[in-house]
Amino acid sequence: MQQPNQDWLARSRRAVWHPCTQMKKHEQLPIVPIARGEGAWLVDFEGRRFLDGVSSWWVNLFGHANPRINAALVDQMNTLEHVILAGFTQKPVVELSEQLGELTGLGHAFYGSDGASATEIALKMSYHYWRNHGQDSKTGFVSLQNSYHGETLGALSVTDVPLFSATYAPLLRQTHRVMSPDWRLAEPGENAEAYARRAADSLEALFKTHAADLAAFIVEPLCQGAAGMAMYHPAYLHRARALCNEYKVHLIADEIAVGFGRTGTLFACEQADIKPDFICLSKGITGGYLPLSAVLTTDEIYAAFYADDVSLGFLHSHSYTGNALACRAALEVLQIFKDNDVLATNRQKATTVAPDFAHLTAHPRVKNARQLGMIWAFDVIDTKIGFAGRLFEAALARGVLLRPINNTIYLMPPYVVTAAELKQVFNTLLALLDEGLS
Ligand SMILES: *Cc1c(COP(=O)(O)O)cnc(C)c1O
Repeated sequence: MQQPNQDWLARSRRAVWHPCTQMKKHEQLPIVPIARGEGAWLVDFEGRRFLDGVSSWWVNLFGHANPRINAALVDQMNTLEHVILAGFTQKPVVELSEQLGELTGLGHAFYGSDGASATEIALKMSYHYWRNHGQDSKTGFVSLQNSYHGETLGALSVTDVPLFSATYAPLLRQTHRVMSPDWRLAEPGENAEAYARRAADSLEALFKTHAADLAAFIVEPLCQGAAGMAMYHPAYLHRARALCNEYKVHLIADEIAVGFGRTGTLFACEQADIKPDFICLSKGITGGYLPLSAVLTTDEIYAAFYADDVSLGFLHSHSYTGNALACRAALEVLQIFKDNDVLATNRQKATTVAPDFAHLTAHPRVKNARQLGMIWAFDVIDTKIGFAGRLFEAALARGVLLRPINNTIYLMPPYVVTAAELKQVFNTLLALLDEGLS
């Protein structure tokens, strides 16, 4: 017999330290116990269903308990679950590395377990590259205002979300911040592209004075997720690529959240027609099944580490580097993209629901409506402190899992969501705004 919700809730509060959470909050706010998942839906122990509007923290692509990924994993489990990747190799890691190489135009896939470890790997590789070239002074990093690249100490140093980083400031490296191209910050009358170009000018100003001390510029292409789905014009990336070339600073594309079709193309960088020096991948890479991240880079950077001297090599590792099960899940994800023409289907779905989204965002309390690929977002005006929590609870009570970021409401569903389900979410949100939730 299944235990009711209540048991799991109390036991979780006692035994589990939940992420990104002030635990005391759960004296009032219930933790939601999930018994199982089914496509875009999560189901609790009492049979209540919630549409997973945040793809379980931006990781799920093809639904919960996906039959194809399940079958691939069962097969892999019965063959080889994991083997040390130093000195050994296996089929899933080789095939995945080859395919990611083809898809990104980069290569030499280096694996970690989480997004933050991919950020660490890219930062270390960039610095080490310059060092191997005798340019020891290039130790600095640049990131955007309101950037998010993960929460380990190195990654947090290039993250600009004070709620997450301010407490740890004494432990973090000083890094440079440049103007965000987020079009919501444009001057009245200035369009997104003009604003993006102005933001790029400020990057150039920093490069002019500091390039000799800079290893890399790290950026979330097209959409700064944790900033509240802050979207920007691809002209910024195009210009940033040119500036990084001119001033000899690496460009690290953090596609951890936006990769694998989220912005409408397989990788967001494609929309700016640029190739970064490093690409960081994670989250959707395994369809939301298993922790896996990868960093791919250029032949030229790889070559700087290739030598008789051991210390010139990249001696970084994680125990689960290149885990066979995770790589196999990722291979199945790539196969689903091919077999189901996922990008075209998503485009079609977004077009179908566009009038419904426009209807929702015509509400007088909505501003800055934006949509990119499978991300819908808008900001709500006239909100009071604690709005995000209240909206979370109200939406959950109506069967939708949403986690607003401050006064930004966003929807980032698994790609298996239907147009009817999307419309249902928009209607729910419209009802909540009409009821005056603030
Ligand atoms: C989530 C995220 C990370 C960190 O990934 P984790 O797996 O949570 O460590 C890094 N960069 C971006 C853009 C992200 O959205």
